[in-house]
Amino acid sequence: MTPSDYFVSEALDAIDSKWWSSLLTCANEVPICTVAPDQPTTLRVCRVPAFRHASIVRAARTSRGWHLVSKVIDGPRYALDGQLVWEHTHTLVGPDAEQLQQLIDGSQLWAMPTTTARMGLDGEMWLIECAQRGKYHVLYRWSPEEQPLLALAACLWLASGVDQYRPDPHLELQRNAERASSRASAERAAELRAARIRRSNVSARTLAATLGSDGLTCPHCCQHTKDIRFVDNSRSGESYFVCKQCGRTFVPADLEPLG
Ligand SMILES: [Zn+2]
Repeated sequence: MTPSDYFVSEALDAIDSKWWSSLLTCANEVPICTVAPDQPTTLRVCRVPAFRHASIVRAARTSRGWHLVSKVIDGPRYALDGQLVWEHTHTLVGPDAEQLQQLIDGSQLWAMPTTTARMGLDGEMWLIECAQRGKYHVLYRWSPEEQPLLALAACLWLASGVDQYRPDPHLELQRNAERASSRASAERAAELRAARIRRSNVSARTLAATLGSDGLTCPHCCQHTKDIRFVDNSRSGESYFVCKQCGRTFVPADLEPLG
């Protein structure tokens, strides 16, 4: 899913839509910005504290009440490599459903601006999306203070059970170890690649020094020729040769295939 799948164009410009869409993708959440003319209310609240797991609660109005889906995304960089670690569905009926409806009606969500000037470093990031009868609106807030929003979110979190999630310490340790291990493997692979390129560039320079007198045999067309161009790429990557006979390129390793 791309940002433009999840958000209408006004929202794309106003919020960090790439980041939010990757969080929603991690959570297996579908876009709600395409709204049918007769669609009942759908509300989705993403809450991302600085140092704890992120949570998402989606509430959809039904004939019986509200269908709630709540999810927790775990991981220090949940949006990039986070995992959906907890999911729960629940239906709110009776007075609880009415209370949620009243909080939504009283919040004036539709009239609230998409963003405010309030910003900070730690704290919590919230994204609130609402869709209803052909309309879609999104709010981004940093640690909001607007009372109607706080009351609405508190009701949703309590009703959905998302606040009951507690990370499993064993799973956390295991996941952190897996992340550290994959980071170490990636670093090791990058080091090996850099060392191979350094060796290749030294060989290429040595071959280039005698190219004018001895020539080289192109590994592609097998012509032995001096009509070969050396491209010294050692500042940014791997140096290579271009055979002017066949137009193809090669590096020293192509001349000395590993036996
Ligand atoms: Zn050639």
